Amino acid sequence: MIRKPATKGKEHVPSLCFQSHLDMVCTRESDSTFDFNTTGIQTRLVEDPEYGPSVMGTGTTLGADDGIGVAAALALLLEEKIEHGPIECLFTIDEEPGLLGIAKLPTDFIKSKYCVNLDAFDDKTITIGCAGGVVRTLTKKLQPAVSTISKIEGDYTQLSVRVLNCRSGHSGFDIHNGRANGIQALATVMYKASSGIGIYLNRLDGGTKVNVIPQDCVGDVWVQTKQLPEFETKLRDAFKILQADFAGRDDDIQLDIKTIGKSLPSTDSVLSERDSHELFALLMNVPHGVLRLSALFPGKVESSINFYRCTLSSNPLELNISFLYRSASQLQIESYKTQQEAYAVANGFICSECKSEYPAWVPVLNSQLLSATKRAYAAARQSKKVSDITQQEGDDFCADKLVVQHVGLEPCWMTKLFPGMEFVTIGAHISNCHSPTESLHINSVQPFYQTLLNILAAF
Ligand SMILES: [Zn+2]
Repeated sequence: MIRKPATKGKEHVPSLCFQSHLDMVCTRESDSTFDFNTTGIQTRLVEDPEYGPSVMGTGTTLGADDGIGVAAALALLLEEKIEHGPIECLFTIDEEPGLLGIAKLPTDFIKSKYCVNLDAFDDKTITIGCAGGVVRTLTKKLQPAVSTISKIEGDYTQLSVRVLNCRSGHSGFDIHNGRANGIQALATVMYKASSGIGIYLNRLDGGTKVNVIPQDCVGDVWVQTKQLPEFETKLRDAFKILQADFAGRDDDIQLDIKTIGKSLPSTDSVLSERDSHELFALLMNVPHGVLRLSALFPGKVESSINFYRCTLSSNPLELNISFLYRSASQLQIESYKTQQEAYAVANGFICSECKSEYPAWVPVLNSQLLSATKRAYAAARQSKKVSDITQQEGDDFCADKLVVQHVGLEPCWMTKLFPGMEFVTIGAHISNCHSPTESLHINSVQPFYQTLLNILAAF
């Protein structure tokens, strides 16, 4: 927290908090060896056909989420040209893994009643509420093949089969786009290819972060060497159908089949042929995607689930599948938790405690901060002084710009920690957040910053 006192004569004005997060999602292209721990982001200027000059990383996420919010807050702290009331700038950590940092704030940490969250991606909107979320992992101990067959004999080849380069994206912003889930894409081709051909599976590794739609997944299997050509053909045929299925929304998906070498699978560390096939069937049918649309905001997602991570470890054989469930309705969150427990019971999983569960931020339409933000936003886009914009003009200008997001934003936790506090979320324009094509559109930065100055002037 950095505080800046009011300028002379403005001490009586209500304090405003500007809040941003310091962490970023570290995602790189599948074939990149970039190390986020040791290397700075390699930024570059590009021309976006729609938005003009833009900043991007090179094969990695840029970190404009939420770097541009942090930069705007720092600029406010350095600002000398305007008069303003007391300012608080709050910089949080661990936002991306599920709003973990903000959740730990002491309840007397913020003095302001009004908080502008600087973590929006779309400069055409003002966010007035957002979905809550629940992160949970289901675990299942699996029996090794030795429980049904004492010894595997013959000539076997071990393969590593990988589906990679799915378009991925942010699980809040992109879940309705119907892109491939890398884990389920691999499960689909493996299910089809292992029908009629026995394979032994002993490892799966797919997906990365809780809010990223899985980009790739790899599975290690043994197949009888004489059946290898047929298995590969079936894999490629199944993959062709998958590609056709996702054409136009996910065009760069790849299949990679690597031969590890000839060896015999050990019966105590692989799944039986039947269990391997059934596991792919199970993974294909795990819930993923949009579950319900909003009744209040037509066409917007109310509830969704991101099946974001899957691992099968071999020693012992244990399957873990992890989910982020989001909903703008607190009631839906509760009923989903029961539904997921039932799913676990029905399929032999153990359901973990909910990790990073956070409540929904429910809109307050008569908020003072929202009124000021609407006038400030309208003034910044019409090159007017905020004092020249009436409340009616602000309301009219912003009527179609108010949104409830399908992502978790830090005000979710703040509504719980600081009852009575009012929030809005605004930002500059960022495309393809959380993916290696993330880009910040430069022309959106000045109106965003001017809106912040106008909000200060409106109080
Ligand atoms: Zn963010």
